[in-house]
Amino acid sequence: MSGDDSRDPEPDGGTATAADTGAGADGDVPDPADRTEPYPHGWARPSAAEGEVALSLSGVTKRFGATPAAEDLSLSVYEGELLTVVGPSGCGKTTTLRLIAGLERPDAGIVRVGGEVVAGDGGFVPAEERDVGVVFQEFALFPHMTTAENVGFGLDDRPQAERERRVEELLDLVGLSAERDAYPDELSGGQQQRVALARSLAPEPEVLLLDEPFANLDVDLRERMREEVRAILREAGVTAVSVTHDQEEALSIGDRVAVMHDGGLEQVGRPERVFQHPESRFVAGFLGHASFVPGSVTGEAVETAIGGVSADRVYGLGPEYEWSTVDLLVRPDDLAARPAPEGDADGRVVGRQFLGATVKYRVELDDDGVVECAHNHTEHIERGAPVSVDFVADHDLAWFPRSRPGADGGDSPAVDGARPERDDGHDAG
Ligand code: ATP
Repeated sequence: MSGDDSRDPEPDGGTATAADTGAGADGDVPDPADRTEPYPHGWARPSAAEGEVALSLSGVTKRFGATPAAEDLSLSVYEGELLTVVGPSGCGKTTTLRLIAGLERPDAGIVRVGGEVVAGDGGFVPAEERDVGVVFQEFALFPHMTTAENVGFGLDDRPQAERERRVEELLDLVGLSAERDAYPDELSGGQQQRVALARSLAPEPEVLLLDEPFANLDVDLRERMREEVRAILREAGVTAVSVTHDQEEALSIGDRVAVMHDGGLEQVGRPERVFQHPESRFVAGFLGHASFVPGSVTGEAVETAIGGVSADRVYGLGPEYEWSTVDLLVRPDDLAARPAPEGDADGRVVGRQFLGATVKYRVELDDDGVVECAHNHTEHIERGAPVSVDFVADHDLAWFPRSRPGADGGDSPAVDGARPERDDGHDAG
């Protein structure tokens, strides 16, 4: 699947047509594979008012032998935004970053920085000539240089006075003016990271790349630095791409999140969007705990083994899906389990995980399948107890097509496809 190239500025603006959504005009159940390119998810191309494109990839591919590390990547990053690229180990995040930085040459496709082609179309601008800064995981500070010297390292070509002014500006931005004469080994992990950030920002790059920027920090510091780094990038107004395998980090700091899988882009969009309305089962499962509850679409509702959900609470479920079966995506906080007499129970508790503020129960449904329910830590249900399970979500549920009604009303094999976008305008930018 190629990535959505569009920004998603408003949750509920614009319109998407049947063609955008891939919905068949003849009443057939839309096949997710039929969605149109290059804006397969029905999100409109952002207007110029929403920002200029600072970085773009068009059909970028990079293989190592038979391994496709980056496969037909198409993506735009807008001026001043922070895009987080997230995905499991080996999905191609670092390769993507290296392709942008000029540390790898693409086999195909075009990379543009600030409108200029830096790779592809027969040309290749080497890393040192690209207007791109990189903050590496290990910070890579020069141990024999002070904070100020590290920050000023890339400013050799500037007159002395200008260089000093820029260094002071950056030290002020990252809150390290008082540590200007300290050496890296005299600084904390968080301070070293801010020096690395200041050093990369000093030459005013068009695009700043961050490679797992918080991986070397302990858990407490990592959370604090996420906020700090986000604030510094915002203050600097720089366009940034940050790669991580940490879903929470990607969702918490990104203006948009790009989810990668097997070298390709699965989905790009605002964090809330990709979390609540994933377009593939992979994205649904990668960004958080996900269970899939099968249900039959019957007129006004989707009927499942644990009860019905009104069709208008099922995001974008069009009339063309009537009488088909779908999988509702439910996360642990969308469901509640309640002890129930054997005869009234939907299943029984097979697992209990204490997570501090919440307890997560795994419930094996009598009707097949397992769901997870998050409860307050004060509630206790015994393992093995029969329970009824209720939908308690206060938001629309996402879903995926499972089968389509055949001519004889029977079901065709399950489709592990993506949910098409609703056609009532909720997805267009
Ligand atoms: P991680 O989160 O573990 O760092 P990643 O998402 O950054 O992973 P990449 O490092 O981009 O993934 O690697 C993508 C694929 O390309 C992997 O299968 C990897 O083994 C392969 N790969 C990356 N660099 C090279 C290389 N120089 N030579 C051969 N294969 C490589």
